[in-house]
Amino acid sequence: MGTKTAHKLELESELRKSINTDRYEFYYQPKVLANSHSLTGVEALLRWRDKDGHYQAPVDIIPLLESSGLILEVGPFLIEKACHQLKLWQQQGLNINMAINISAQQLLDSDLIGILNNAIKKTDCDPAYLELEITESVLMTDIELAYQNLIALKKIGVKIAIDDFGTGYSSLAYLSRFPINILKIDREFVKELPHNKDSITIIEAIIDLAHNLGLAVVAEGVENIEQIAFLEAIGVEEFQGFYFNKPLTQCDFNRQYLSQTQQMLENTI
Ligand code: C2E
Ligand code: CA
Ligand code: CA
Repeated sequence: MGTKTAHKLELESELRKSINTDRYEFYYQPKVLANSHSLTGVEALLRWRDKDGHYQAPVDIIPLLESSGLILEVGPFLIEKACHQLKLWQQQGLNINMAINISAQQLLDSDLIGILNNAIKKTDCDPAYLELEITESVLMTDIELAYQNLIALKKIGVKIAIDDFGTGYSSLAYLSRFPINILKIDREFVKELPHNKDSITIIEAIIDLAHNLGLAVVAEGVENIEQIAFLEAIGVEEFQGFYFNKPLTQCDFNRQYLSQTQQMLENTI
């Protein structure tokens, strides 16, 4: 118990010390359009390097950032980092969306709008290409505050996606009242396709609901062509998953996607 606490405290201290440094890094996982499978955007996924240079996965880091309140200090840095990268890619001819994960504390923070406005202004990125991913349970924590912040975010022009949809506690009423643009179907349902009848029923219901409310549907965690064929046939608009690509370092992403775009640009000149 003592060792566990000591380890946690040390980790927390390292996380604090490294704020605003490149030990906080994003990997970028591509998202593609259904059928054409052309690139539409990326999701920025946090990686953190410990003092020995080893990468720590978000599952080990995010809960600690959240419980210590550090997420509110790291959050602005990460938002600006993602906006900066978005701008860079746009300058290089790659007009893609940038999805950023936002924790409950960040969404319910009264400074979020100022932080986002600041990052957009400083990096001169186009907010129309920004997507904020929030989990459904966040909306239920403080419905009024979440609603106010989402309305303000909509005014800035960013899109809102509900992450891990179908796994959390939620009220369907908020889907029509809140300014939401995208539902991301959780990997847990996608995993069981195309054979599990219960997963099929749930996914079909989610897609029906989303489309009737005018929301786009993204399926995450797609790993094989059978899942993709099934999901395309029932109207999923966008995909993200290992079948297309794992989360990539900025360098690997550029190598794979930027060179293609630059080649295309060169060919058309
Ligand atoms: P998420 O937002 O649901 O992100 C998707 C996770 O699924 C990522 O894990 C990604 O690597 C993984 N994944 C994507 N495609 C596949 C697939 O085909 N198969 C399998 N098995 N896995 C796939 P990752 O990067 O470990 O992130 C875990 C979670 O940590 C994220 O889940 C998100 O909730 C959180 N997270 C990551 N970055 C941030 C961040 O910057 N801020 C906040 N607040 N949370 C973050
Ligand atoms: Ca996400
Ligand atoms: Ca997710």
